[in-house]
Amino acid sequence: MECWKCHEINHLYYVESTFYSACNARILPEEALWQSNSMKFRPEIVELARHFIENRKDLDLKLGQIKSRYSHTVEDSYTSFGCFKCDSIFGDWYVMDAEMDMLYAPKELTHQGEIHLKQIIEIPIRHWCFPDNRQFCEQLHRKE
Ligand SMILES: [Zn+2]
Ligand SMILES: [Zn+2]
Repeated sequence: MECWKCHEINHLYYVESTFYSACNARILPEEALWQSNSMKFRPEIVELARHFIENRKDLDLKLGQIKSRYSHTVEDSYTSFGCFKCDSIFGDWYVMDAEMDMLYAPKELTHQGEIHLKQIIEIPIRHWCFPDNRQFCEQLHRKE
């Protein structure tokens, strides 16, 4: 994404969500949409992205800080991507728009990683709970 202010090219990312329940049942993207927008700013995901950038210095990826910035458009602050050079906010709307374009474009760069969410998220999804050597979802629930 080109910075609207200083015109530097920045690299953003988005999460093509594949999530698994405690028992390892695949959670379909439609089911995971409940908050996929904020998903990319979860500390575990940001960590994964930073780690990738660190390990692939050859790609020369420019990812600015991810933090709360004030947006004059919505007159409020929210967690956002920003320019690595001038720290200008990349508004949610523009980022979403770019994401939508990417959804249907050939992927130039993808990275698959695994994270463990530190916070337990509960969503009711019908599935055969077959944990194999993992945990029954119900057990996890009771452990809390
Ligand atoms: Zn900039
Ligand atoms: Zn289960």
